[in-house]
Amino acid sequence: MYDVKGNLRKVLADLPRGVHLVAISKYHPNEYIEAAYAEGQRIFGESHEQELRLKHETLPKDIYWHFIGHLQTNKVKYIVPYITMIEAVDSLKLLKEIDKQAAKCGRTIAVLLELHIAEEETKYGLTPDALWQLLAEGSWRQLQHVRICGLMMMASNVDDMEQIRSEFRQGRELFYQVKEQYFADVDYFRERSWGMSHDYKIAIEEGSTIVRIGTTIFGPRVY
Ligand SMILES: *Cc1c(COP(=O)(O)O)cnc(C)c1O
Repeated sequence: MYDVKGNLRKVLADLPRGVHLVAISKYHPNEYIEAAYAEGQRIFGESHEQELRLKHETLPKDIYWHFIGHLQTNKVKYIVPYITMIEAVDSLKLLKEIDKQAAKCGRTIAVLLELHIAEEETKYGLTPDALWQLLAEGSWRQLQHVRICGLMMMASNVDDMEQIRSEFRQGRELFYQVKEQYFADVDYFRERSWGMSHDYKIAIEEGSTIVRIGTTIFGPRVY
């Protein structure tokens, strides 16, 4: 096995106080997660509902699971009973479905709104304009069972570190503008989830509070 414990320790040593690690365990077997768990790691991230369900059923119940992938509305009901945070919410429709399902099981789910700043063409994430529109539309205020805790983003998958830095910086500026305009009076709107294996050090310099790291801890994924 990859030296999961050693890698985890190195990553944790890089994190300043107040920056939390989500260990991204997608495509990795339970024994890898158990190795990180034995080191004290409790927050893990997955991006597929079925894989997450199996892992949730078979691994310790005090793990905090973050859903980090694109979530189809018809899958929401399966994860809402136990999920800690849904990180990549990029539509009002999804937000409303999470609220509806969470109400059914008497929970309030922490979510992040996924921002799309990267230059890649992808269907996912809210452009800054779309984010402002969603917030201005206002019906999210009626949702009693979701708690919008901040923003999540991925930078462009490029080697140009200055480009990555500039994207995270835009994310951070947007975060503060949104905070000021819509969430100034709530302390839970405070999370900025950016930084993966290849760019988490830059992300931390640009103000992330959550890093999502897989490969550096668990090695390459076998798809
Ligand atoms: C897979 C994934 C990660 C982790 O990527 P690594 O390069 O393995 O650290 C982080 N965030 C999201 C949204 C992912 O899908």
